[in-house]
Amino acid sequence: MTSLYDNIIFGPVRSRRLGLSLGVNLLPIESKLCNFDCIYCECGWNADHPGAKRFNNRNDVKTMLRQTLSQMAAEGALPDVITFAGNGEPTMHPDFEAIIDDTIALRDELCPAAKVSVLSNATQIHREDVRRALMRVDNNILKLDSAFDATVQLINKPQGDYSVARTVELLSLFGGNFIMQTMFLRGEYLGQRVDNTTPEQISAWLEIVKRLSPKQVMVYSLDRDTPCQTLEKVGKEELQKIADMVQAIGIACSVA
Ligand code: SF4
Repeated sequence: MTSLYDNIIFGPVRSRRLGLSLGVNLLPIESKLCNFDCIYCECGWNADHPGAKRFNNRNDVKTMLRQTLSQMAAEGALPDVITFAGNGEPTMHPDFEAIIDDTIALRDELCPAAKVSVLSNATQIHREDVRRALMRVDNNILKLDSAFDATVQLINKPQGDYSVARTVELLSLFGGNFIMQTMFLRGEYLGQRVDNTTPEQISAWLEIVKRLSPKQVMVYSLDRDTPCQTLEKVGKEELQKIADMVQAIGIACSVA
């Protein structure tokens, strides 16, 4: 069963990698809003969420974040990280930059040691306001699941125009100030083989990593339930081999 986040602020969730992470969901709480429709999305298929497509209001986000952080401060359990994720793509929010500014101000005031992280599919980085906001956060985590357009079409199902070449060109504008995140998986979807772990895939993907030189790469595989039921998880050992290849070109790489 895939599932949605049921509020603007969710968690906190403790993870070994991030510590105590408080989530911020800018997307609907009763639906999903994304311009990808990844076959592995933990929120399920876009079509399974026909509910209202609206963004949470900037002031509501600010008020709820203030309340939650104040309460956590009172309890002496401040988050290590404030993470923008949730039911879809956070950077689609028209006020994304202002919300990031609000969040950084609240973080500085109430929990200065916490990092601000954004998990994004990188489809809005043609917008200058989105790029500016992402440059200000501590962890600008951007998805790129394959170097091949056909594979991205299969795995991520972009809902509008998308090209890897254009995305790579836009990613280069960060000057390496981002973390690249790649989901590795195998399986079958609509009668077609899906596999972004073949030697051809890995070598083309490594070329992009080399060219963009992000400050870190995160590789991971399936963890929770996915809408497409015919996918296989890539094991930790194989992910580690991919990470070793990234490290061999001088770039830090973590296996989640
Ligand atoms: S980009 Fe994220 S939220 Fe959007 S469909 Fe893919 S996994 Fe789901």
